[in-house]
Amino acid sequence: MTDDAPDLCRYRRPIAPAPRLRLSRFAGVIHLVPTESLHAMSRRRQIYEGKAKILYEGPEPGTLIQYFKDDATAFNAQKKGTISGKGVLNNRISEHVFTLLGNIGVPHHFIRRLNMREQLIRQVEIVPIEVIVRNVAAGTLSKRLGIEEGTQLPRTLIEYCYKDDALGDPLVAEEHIACFNWCSQDELHDIQDMAIRINDFMSGMFAAVGIRLVDFKLEFGRLYEGDFSRIILADEISPDGCRLWDMTTNEKLDKDRFRRDLGGEVEAYQEVARRLGLLPEGGENAVLDLESHRKKKGS
Ligand code: C5P
Repeated sequence: MTDDAPDLCRYRRPIAPAPRLRLSRFAGVIHLVPTESLHAMSRRRQIYEGKAKILYEGPEPGTLIQYFKDDATAFNAQKKGTISGKGVLNNRISEHVFTLLGNIGVPHHFIRRLNMREQLIRQVEIVPIEVIVRNVAAGTLSKRLGIEEGTQLPRTLIEYCYKDDALGDPLVAEEHIACFNWCSQDELHDIQDMAIRINDFMSGMFAAVGIRLVDFKLEFGRLYEGDFSRIILADEISPDGCRLWDMTTNEKLDKDRFRRDLGGEVEAYQEVARRLGLLPEGGENAVLDLESHRKKKGS
């Protein structure tokens, strides 16, 4: 397992504030030029480049800018590709979900969206664990335990993977987390509580627009405040890290379209955005047309 998530553990040093002149120029650039040019032109310091995102230093200490790329990877980066427009959609979808989660009291790193591909976030120290929440059997769970994909689980299942690309993000138990002190017992309780609340909220949010939330991945980080730190939700929530199935047709509306060579990736991501009310109804790119996509491919 791989996919993308910034590993800030390696960047624990506080980030020095950028010089004033650069900041105002940076701010001006944001408002005046298209995103792509901004990306190319900016001289911001890059903090980290992941498979689907880049992190730059933010305008103030304790902030970062999260840039969403169109790059897609799967199977521990053995499969690579580009989904044109994915970054824009993920930026918008993630903004929407984080904002709604904030409204129900889930603390998170999102501050605001800056433009089509970038958002301002709080700098956190990422807990080196991927938290996988599952409602329906699919993916590696189905493979590992021989459970048919689509089987409703009797209860929500939370799994943990240790974030290490070289090891392929292995599945670990709570005992490993405690043994190697990847986070404290209190932190893990906070993570579990938040994961359940997020799942309850997102299951309802997606059900309301005819989408089944099969499973998803979360990442959390430590936000330092003086001598204390607290756990907040970090990374992104988008079809890159969720399994989203149409409730009536079971059509996949997520990155499995890329992983499994189903095609129609961007149409699927657009459909999720459209159903969440983030794309204008009837806009040129607003409608999922997987049927005609399939016909084009002759399948
Ligand atoms: O591959 P697996 O079935 O374990 O994935 C479970 C869920 O977690 C899927 O929604 C997948 O998109 C997400 N995931 C992820 N990044 C990873 C591993 C899993 O976003 N590294």
